[in-house]
Amino acid sequence: MIPSVLPTYSRAPLSFVKGEGSWLIEEDGRRFLDLGAGIAVNALGHAHPALVAALTEQAGRLWHTSNLYHIPQQQALADKLVAATFADTVFFTNSGTEACELAVKMARKHFFEAGQPERVEIIGFEGAFHGRSSAGIAAAGSEKMTRGFGPLLPGFAHVPWDDPEALEAAISEKTAAILIEPVQGEGGIRPMSDHSLKAVRALCDERGLLLILDEVQCGMGRTGRLFAHEWAGIAPDIMMVAKGIGGGFPLGAVLATEHAASGMTAGTHGSTYGGNPLGCAVGNAVMDHVAEPEFLAEVNRKAGLLRQKLEGLVADHPDVFADVRGLGLMLGLKCTAPNADVVKAGYEAQVITVPAADNVVRLLPPLTITDAEIAEAVTRLETAATEVERGLARETA
Ligand SMILES: *Cc1c(COP(=O)(O)O)cnc(C)c1O
Repeated sequence: MIPSVLPTYSRAPLSFVKGEGSWLIEEDGRRFLDLGAGIAVNALGHAHPALVAALTEQAGRLWHTSNLYHIPQQQALADKLVAATFADTVFFTNSGTEACELAVKMARKHFFEAGQPERVEIIGFEGAFHGRSSAGIAAAGSEKMTRGFGPLLPGFAHVPWDDPEALEAAISEKTAAILIEPVQGEGGIRPMSDHSLKAVRALCDERGLLLILDEVQCGMGRTGRLFAHEWAGIAPDIMMVAKGIGGGFPLGAVLATEHAASGMTAGTHGSTYGGNPLGCAVGNAVMDHVAEPEFLAEVNRKAGLLRQKLEGLVADHPDVFADVRGLGLMLGLKCTAPNADVVKAGYEAQVITVPAADNVVRLLPPLTITDAEIAEAVTRLETAATEVERGLARETA
């Protein structure tokens, strides 16, 4: 019999009733160090006092009106995002995949209004993840996500990761945009090099294409800059944001230049909940912390500390780990042992990590993790690695 919750997830045997900073707590009081942060969502950890205050204060005042009216909290958050980034304008969504939907619509509308309605195609990359909506799965294109869900939304092409020749060859008179995660998350924490990002930006300029960046996972301070593309010194035309921006409240956004967004006039797009007072009250509080230079400097310092300790862990356990990759506090442990075994052994050691493709274990701790918690996290990962080694030894015995 089908469970009452649609069984689209194979869930770990864990269930949490409380969160405090970098910790998740089960009913029986067992405390887990959370290096997953709800997949890069709880950027300020669990129950951060500023977010609790913003949420409860707004909850007692006004939850929801409609985008038929002006929403001051939404205006304030848009102004902050515009001031802090390349963007001239922002639309708020409830999730990352809704941001993908708008990014695709915006790019197509841009060329339609520019008198090039044939430019509809978006070129994406193998290993990408853009969410589970129809545009999201078509944009990613993998068999795993699209099988059985056809006919797929047309107008997407796919090229191998970091293969400039294949990318250039895929461009045609039908191409509208190139869509990239500057650091692939689900794909296994694969950063695109600064050099390649610069080359893609130049290619877009040369061929008159829009560059869409998906910073749903790697944005909002995760890599040590407010947005990951800043490391390469480039800017997109359109950017998708979600996950960290709400700190756990469902919130996403599309940021764009005036040029890219020029086709999106009144009546061309909408959302019932997107950017409502409750969501934006929390989003403003997240932004006020994460966009601070001192906060980002701390993310970088702690990222250095964690990375250094992880290099040691990898060196000590070559039968379990191959290397450390990633940027800032978006790190991946490429495994030699099956990544699922490492994640499972982590649960036993009361440390939460997240598997990704390419046999990688993702570490996406709250950006507020402390030095002591970093040390404790690596101790627990050490315990997990030792357990995985014992398992391997039993297998070969
Ligand atoms: C999680 C994610 C999405 C989808 O976000 P949802 O909020 O789950 O719809 C899109 N792109 C990237 C890079 C993501 O990591």
